[in-house]
Amino acid sequence: MAVPFVEDWDLVQTLGEGAYGEVQLAVNRRTEEAVAVKKVDTTRALDCPENIKKEICINKLLNHANIVRFYGHRREGNIQYLFLEYCSGGELFDRIEPDVGMPEVDAHRFFLQLIAGVEYLHSIGITHRDIKPENLLLDDRDNLKLSDFGLATVYRHNSRERLLNKMCGTLPYVAPELLKRKEFWAEPVDIWSCGIVLVAMLAGELPWDQPAESCQEYCDWNEKKLYLTPWKKIDPVPLSLLNKILMEGPKSRATISDIKKDRWFINQFKRGVKRTRLSSGSPNDSLGPFSKHIHSNVDLSPVSGVPWSEDQTRYSSSQPEPRTAVSSWDSNHSSIDNLVQGISFSQPICTDHMLVGSQLQSTPGSSQNPWQRLVKRMTRFFTKLDAEQSYLSLKEVCEKLGYTWKKNCNNQVTISTMDRRNNKLIFKVNLIEMSERILVDFRLSKGDGLEFKRHFVTIKHKLNDIIYTQKILLPVT
Ligand code: ATP
Repeated sequence: MAVPFVEDWDLVQTLGEGAYGEVQLAVNRRTEEAVAVKKVDTTRALDCPENIKKEICINKLLNHANIVRFYGHRREGNIQYLFLEYCSGGELFDRIEPDVGMPEVDAHRFFLQLIAGVEYLHSIGITHRDIKPENLLLDDRDNLKLSDFGLATVYRHNSRERLLNKMCGTLPYVAPELLKRKEFWAEPVDIWSCGIVLVAMLAGELPWDQPAESCQEYCDWNEKKLYLTPWKKIDPVPLSLLNKILMEGPKSRATISDIKKDRWFINQFKRGVKRTRLSSGSPNDSLGPFSKHIHSNVDLSPVSGVPWSEDQTRYSSSQPEPRTAVSSWDSNHSSIDNLVQGISFSQPICTDHMLVGSQLQSTPGSSQNPWQRLVKRMTRFFTKLDAEQSYLSLKEVCEKLGYTWKKNCNNQVTISTMDRRNNKLIFKVNLIEMSERILVDFRLSKGDGLEFKRHFVTIKHKLNDIIYTQKILLPVT
């Protein structure tokens, strides 16, 4: 589909997919600014126009260092475009090694940032309602940003709080009261899902399919069988925090202020503690410049003391100033304003351009190396083979694993399967020619992020013989 486009801006790759459209990366040819563009086709579902309106309204209210910044929106026919801060670090789930998790120091830092973002949201009466690692993005300095306000809602207005009754979220992350009661309070539900995210980060698995009595793992947790997995993998200090968060009764559940007093939460992990990156599933061995880039910029400082960004000090009351699309951010960035407002349309650009390696390298304006234009996904590797051979090897492995395989255009395939919980899992694989090698890049399309990661690791393991592991050195600017 041709995309109406604005002078100087190119769409250079697809960052992700949602239920109603795609998120693409737009880069300015002159200034090299990068913006994530969420395209929503409002004809895809009956309730879509209303939902997207709400998502936009909520986004306009937000302004915090741990929340994806909203630059504005624009409508072209049935398509709504949302312009968002580009998070080049990818999704949090990508940093979680299946069944292992991540180093505790990293989990601690991410958790502090997650709580800072949620505390801010609650301070302005907004609940996210779908907190999970797939909706937690990372910027170029590995700072966590809450994203996707498609299910968010206002639960407190003019100091009056309402109970919620809509069942929404993602089953393994939802709080038990949501499945049991007609009405429930908003804040404890978000806090519960933060607890599940913490389990995922510390143990690399989700504790249960859903928090219901019909689920054995959930009953075991309520009976405090901590010798079972995932609990036995977690150190007693963070486990004690999880005990307070994953408390069945919402009234006895830890509040954010309780969490902020917790021993593990306030623990100052030493600066300079070696933070290891993921081993399996990590392309670091083949993507030297990526890891270098990430490490050199990592901010290890705890964020608990400064949950508000500098910008927040402007909105000290519980009712923040509403922001308009253009005034929603400091407007020294006229090129982004042009993009948002749709000023000076140039030739429509075909999205087909986006994933072809050679074109990517010669994208106007990409004087930086192409890596910096690609989201830092762990779910990718280089092969030693040419495109055709890489494709055939991948196909053979996927067929042996019983996956459904569909070839799309532009060296892309869609792979579908069922996960351990018997839920649909769909992911896309792009074969991209880059630095005279073939990059095999996996992206989740539908399903659970951790399960996707598990399947990626299995495929990668089976393709071990063809994976190119030497560093490809590209300059980091
Ligand atoms: P869902 O159907 O899961 O609710 P959605 O239509 O609401 O999805 P998002 O979750 O907002 O869409 O985005 C889909 C994916 O696009 C994300 O999981 C992420 O990988 C990518 N993405 C979204 N926003 C950004 C961003 N600002 N920077 C980088 N990548 C992004």
